Amino acid sequence: MTISQNHNFKDKTIVITGAGGVLCGFLAKQLAKTGAKVALLDLNLESAVKFADEIVAEGGIAKGYQTNVLELESLKATRDAILKDFGTCDILINGAGGNSPKATTDNEFHETNLPENTKSFFELDKAGVEFVFNLNYLGTLLPTQVFAQDMVGKTGANIINISSMNAFTPLTKIPAYSGAKAAISNFTQWLAVHFSHVGIRCNAIAPGFLVSNQNRGLLFDQDGNPTARANKILTNTPMGRFGEPEELVGGILFLMDERYASFVNGVVLPIDGGFSAYSGV
Ligand code: NAD
Repeated sequence: MTISQNHNFKDKTIVITGAGGVLCGFLAKQLAKTGAKVALLDLNLESAVKFADEIVAEGGIAKGYQTNVLELESLKATRDAILKDFGTCDILINGAGGNSPKATTDNEFHETNLPENTKSFFELDKAGVEFVFNLNYLGTLLPTQVFAQDMVGKTGANIINISSMNAFTPLTKIPAYSGAKAAISNFTQWLAVHFSHVGIRCNAIAPGFLVSNQNRGLLFDQDGNPTARANKILTNTPMGRFGEPEELVGGILFLMDERYASFVNGVVLPIDGGFSAYSGV
């Protein structure tokens, strides 16, 4: 894909949260090819700086910032630093998010006579559920409060949230993560309406199952064969394969580019090989 030829974001500032992570670090590197100034925000400074340095080494403009998306003071300090380095935000990508084992059941279905040490729905940890809801939902709302203030009235300003295919239909085992991503899809529509008079579009992508270094061990056994859960995923993905991080880039570029998506507002774009469209029959 010749990103630099098709999309020109020179002089624009793109702020990406969770950019020290697998997907958003990769996205940051791709989006830097548009000529934009890319601010990579993450709790993990080392990781954000590593991706930023790789962008700069390839001739792009980027910087990493240590930021907690759950702390307004941290977000405001980062906004002030970005203002000095690059100017105000034009495009905000809310990528920080994730699940916790404390909010995950051991089994897909509750059964009578489960072994004693099974973590069933009844043993889910309240703090774990709160952690997942806060990280995904508040971790999207608070950065939007801080950065969207400067985006009001700016030409081409827009926000992209990262939902998930489990926002459409919940996946087994992960009620908090599924609910939090459903809340993000709903919030995306709310923001699209709320900011529609001041020129800020808001959309989301809903990635399906992508293979990353993080989940490779869960999806494939030591011989590289799909695990039982991976086989279930593949059976329910009409295209019959996992996605690659590269396959998110086109959707993001489309949504953020005013030339292509100026009237696209409030959509949650599935990028999932048809998973969310398939009833299984
Ligand atoms: P990841 O764990 O690699 O990246 C998440 C990043 O967020 C990490 O670098 C982490 O340090 C950072 N982070 C966590 N808490 C933070 C906080 N309080 N403040 C700032 N940063 C914080 O995950 P990923 O797989 O790259 O996922 C990125 C996004 O995509 C997430 O929102 C995730 O829910 C979503 N998603 C991923 C997939 C997938 O298959 N990987 C599918 C659907 C949606």
